[in-house]
Amino acid sequence: MLRPIRRALFSVSDKTGLVDFARVLAIKYNVELIATGGTMRALADAGLAVKDVADLTGFPEILDGRVKTLHPAVFAGLLAKRDKPEHMTTLAEHNLPEIDLVVCNLYPFEQTVAKSGVTVPQAIENIDIGGPCMIRAAAKNFEAVSVLVDPKQYTPFLDVLAQNGGSVTRLMRLTSAKEAFARIQQYDTAIAGYFDGLHHGDTGDAQPDVLQVSLIRKQTLRYGENPHQTAAFYTEPGVARPCVATAQQLHGKELSYNNILDLDSALNLAREFADPAAVVIKHNNPCGAATAPTLADAFAHAWEGDPLSAFGGILAFNRTVDPATADALATGQRFVECIIAPDFDADAFEILITKPTWKKNVRLLKVGPLFGSPQGTDYRRVDGGLLVQARDVGADDPAAWRVVTKTEPTDAQRAALWFAWLVCKHVKSNAIVLAQGTQIVGVGAGQMSRVDSTQIAIKKAGERVKGAVLASDAFFPFADNVEAAAAAGVVAMVQPGGSQRDQESIDACDRHGIPMLFTGVRHFRH
Ligand code: 5GP
Repeated sequence: MLRPIRRALFSVSDKTGLVDFARVLAIKYNVELIATGGTMRALADAGLAVKDVADLTGFPEILDGRVKTLHPAVFAGLLAKRDKPEHMTTLAEHNLPEIDLVVCNLYPFEQTVAKSGVTVPQAIENIDIGGPCMIRAAAKNFEAVSVLVDPKQYTPFLDVLAQNGGSVTRLMRLTSAKEAFARIQQYDTAIAGYFDGLHHGDTGDAQPDVLQVSLIRKQTLRYGENPHQTAAFYTEPGVARPCVATAQQLHGKELSYNNILDLDSALNLAREFADPAAVVIKHNNPCGAATAPTLADAFAHAWEGDPLSAFGGILAFNRTVDPATADALATGQRFVECIIAPDFDADAFEILITKPTWKKNVRLLKVGPLFGSPQGTDYRRVDGGLLVQARDVGADDPAAWRVVTKTEPTDAQRAALWFAWLVCKHVKSNAIVLAQGTQIVGVGAGQMSRVDSTQIAIKKAGERVKGAVLASDAFFPFADNVEAAAAAGVVAMVQPGGSQRDQESIDACDRHGIPMLFTGVRHFRH
């Protein structure tokens, strides 16, 4: 059934497209606009006539905005069944107006918790309460009320109004109600995941006398690390946060044991970065990683880090894979086993499952918006027991790094060192990582001597070692690493410090005029 829009309630955090949309409603369709504080100011500043929701409720916004719209005047206007006379009489008795359209998008909880250094109170304040309530109310009453939760819906909605003389079809209301509930579900999943992380984070350090671990078999695997080893994937019950255990496989062959291990490593590295990031993992070590203003560039730089090793790699992205990135991936002689990302744009997905030669097999995994660090206790099996430790998260603070040489690093060197250090944390010890800006150019992983790792990283970097910065996961026991790196052309270094012979490494840096920083934090990964 067609329903005209006479009154619309606006309450949006993301004000994209707001004014243009509201203007068409007000001017072309004579819709009365009501809005919450910030939204009202944006509309009024654009010259539109708009009523404050406080005038509707007769109640000011209180408790720092925690209570703005939570009022019978709003909810009765949304929930009253238009075809039930008693409901309409009640509205009239209390002088409550019908609201025909809710335009609401929520406090940016997901974006807030994705930022590094966000405190728990900041995260909590970004949990929207009134917005989801209004959205649910409008969606429940979709027979009469329309609801829009994303600026992308404004244009199609106006198209429907134009086609129906300013009214909305039932199909449109039903479709947008479904999208509204889906958005609330996504929002609540992110919140539940965040709380899940807090909860597991709290217990991460606990060392009970008797440890009972109960896990649920998620899938039986064809085999383990090798074909003669049986294997299965067990997951923790109730995990809601974005991680390899909750990722949804959208396409491709069944995951293998080694795939799951590598996907976990890849995702945990990609989520370290705020800028668009791409990571290539081979045998549980990063062989390429980069951040860049676009995801496609991040991918190109990550792949160039070590194209030979990247062949057959496991990829992770910290952003939705877009068509440009998918195109780059699908072009040339590249071969990729698995890709994990928050999501895949529909066109990007189509490219990946139709264009490359490996399209049939490539495993595509969607993990949802990334936030927080990996959580929970870290377990390692040894014969006859289990080693239990808190995870290696949250220990780094670049502001606390100490310059120990006479030469200070430049800002650009500091930024590159921070990038190299974050990658180094995810490389098997002994780990040496060389970076140019925010691109990895050489990795030395898992060697029994640190100087071997340094030499491998230098060899991998080739010409790109000149001007590169170096990160070492643990201290330099001797000055030989510094000498090898300096001779190759490395221009700045970061390491934990703490060796009895630190002074020898510092002196060697000073002889070469290279700045070195001590982190005071070690990142062994055995
Ligand atoms: P504005 O910028 O208009 O002041 O605020 C818009 C935001 O407030 C929207 O994201 C909307 O979901 C949210 N909102 C609306 N009503 C309430 C409420 O009663 N409580 C809370 N916490 N948020 C609300």
